[in-house]
Amino acid sequence: MIDYLTKLVKEIEPYVPGEQRADRKYIKLNTNENPFPPSPRVKEGIYTELDRLRLYPDPECNLLKSAVSKEYNVGMENVFIGNGSDEILAFAFPAFFNDGMVAFPNITYSFYPVFANLFQTKFLEMPLNDDFSIDVNSYSDENYRRIHRKSENKEEFQRISGILISNPNAPTGIALKLQDIEKLIQNNQDKLVLIDEAYIDFGGETAVSLVKKYKNLLVVMTFSKSRSLAGLRVGFAIGDVELIDALNKIKNSFNSYTLDRLAIAGATAALLDKEYFAKTRHKIISNREKLTNELIKLDFNVIPSQANFIFVSHERIKAGDLFQKLREEGVLVRYFDKPLIDNYLRITIGTVEDLHTLVQKIKEIILNV
Ligand SMILES: *Cc1c(COP(=O)(O)O)cnc(C)c1O
Repeated sequence: MIDYLTKLVKEIEPYVPGEQRADRKYIKLNTNENPFPPSPRVKEGIYTELDRLRLYPDPECNLLKSAVSKEYNVGMENVFIGNGSDEILAFAFPAFFNDGMVAFPNITYSFYPVFANLFQTKFLEMPLNDDFSIDVNSYSDENYRRIHRKSENKEEFQRISGILISNPNAPTGIALKLQDIEKLIQNNQDKLVLIDEAYIDFGGETAVSLVKKYKNLLVVMTFSKSRSLAGLRVGFAIGDVELIDALNKIKNSFNSYTLDRLAIAGATAALLDKEYFAKTRHKIISNREKLTNELIKLDFNVIPSQANFIFVSHERIKAGDLFQKLREEGVLVRYFDKPLIDNYLRITIGTVEDLHTLVQKIKEIILNV
């Protein structure tokens, strides 16, 4: 039989997104989507663009780029627009990481190792502290070698070409302070430092202010979480013009029209509605504090989160069991059956009604164990 598949595709283990079930109505607290609809202006923006769909979109996304550059006080030449931030993270591998090894925490966004494998980039997993925080001081040249030696990784050590940090980290929700990010960048000036700020609007401090000072910093953000546009697929990166040019070279070697007209129009409209953004963001932060307090009362260990989710464990009921029972009750949360975190659940912050239902269901489940 002829074998049509490459070795790469046979060996690759793709990312598994959180489940999107249609078998019944669920309260979806498993994929960190925003519980509020997008700004009403998004609808208008998209609607007016419909008549122009016969034309290709602007490959530079200048309308959106200009709005991002104003919002973050950077030049247009410092902005890259992508089809979701996942696409930008993917482009970063051939653009910045591929010639060496990329270092990222051993517990983080599980797409990072998937991209590394796809782009055949070796990676080094840096252990978190016992409290799940990131030790920025461990990101040093002496330490990379030491950690590589201690790891089960049989591959030969290669120069570390880049560092990939999600801030706040996923799925822990813990944020690094800006001064720690700066220390990390300073201690690694010969490496590209990519900060994935998918959750930054829920309480962390963005590193965009450091972009002018450090040429090795790339900050990546998304419209999927804080701007309620996971379904539109829009992300952006801010960095030195040389880094932006590198991303453009990769993009234009793959697909020049990664963003469609509706996405450009919708995302631009969302960015301009600052009032709606502030309102929904604050509701989520306030609901996060409410849910945290409720769960602490029920003997949960809740890791202090700066994101739109919390990472929790319970002293009497196993996370895997609680995950199953909640699903039977129509509430979806995220469970990762992986070492170190297999007794934790990641729960997305929903509306106040979601929060009450969740707490009620959890109370009933706990009473029965
Ligand atoms: C959700 C998420 C992304 C991806 O966002 P998209 O813009 O929807 O592709 C990237 N990084 C982290 C850490 C995320 O949680």
